Amino acid sequence: MRLRNVPGSRDVIAGSRFTIKNETEYKGKWNTVFGNDHPIHIEIGMGKGQFILTLARENPDINYVGIEKYSSVLVRAIEKQETEELSNLCFIRMEAENIADVFEEGEVDRIYLNFSDPWPKDRHAKRRLTSTAFLERYERILAKEGHVIFKTDNRDLFDFSLDQVEQAPDWKLLNSTFDLHHSEYVEGNVMTEYETRFVEKGNAICRMEIMQIEHET
Ligand code: SAH
Repeated sequence: MRLRNVPGSRDVIAGSRFTIKNETEYKGKWNTVFGNDHPIHIEIGMGKGQFILTLARENPDINYVGIEKYSSVLVRAIEKQETEELSNLCFIRMEAENIADVFEEGEVDRIYLNFSDPWPKDRHAKRRLTSTAFLERYERILAKEGHVIFKTDNRDLFDFSLDQVEQAPDWKLLNSTFDLHHSEYVEGNVMTEYETRFVEKGNAICRMEIMQIEHET
């Protein structure tokens, strides 16, 4: 993504009560941040936050944590949240690689990945948010019944992701489509910023839903 330096964005983030600063301290204690035991859904790479703000507005009984590594986009989501003050939404500015330091085993009930960076070079494959390297991290935080839901218009990244799920010993594909907007899964679909842009361009949107396999003990 093309990044513009937004002057003062780090100060806005630091000063917002909706950004969690010392996030590792809340590992296993996210219920104290929200003041209730509602399920926790996270979006990794939330950008300017249109998707997660919409979900938080529509689902007051679910707690949302938006994760984004760049201040310059995160600041836009914070500005919106400062006017709406949704009590079930907060943000963390962090690199998703460290996600297992922030949530306890089983603490997260759903993970959304929307239009994640494709990292097209083979040598960067492990950085893709749907690589088996990341699936292993998600296993460490996601409830057993929890789903990961991934959308992209990038067919190469999507094919790679399908392949990674197949290779991962602990994951299974629940459903997928190569054309979300002409499929049954479009019902209740919440658009992201990138999705709006790509749909206007006529790109097909791919979507998959995956979960962990229950192993017999
Ligand atoms: N989800 C938004 C933005 C998509 S662009 C939408 O669909 O409109 C992908 C976003 O993910 C960017 O803002 C990028 O900074 C963020 N991102 C990519 N890799 C990340 C990582 N490893 N950790 C945290 N954020 C990441």
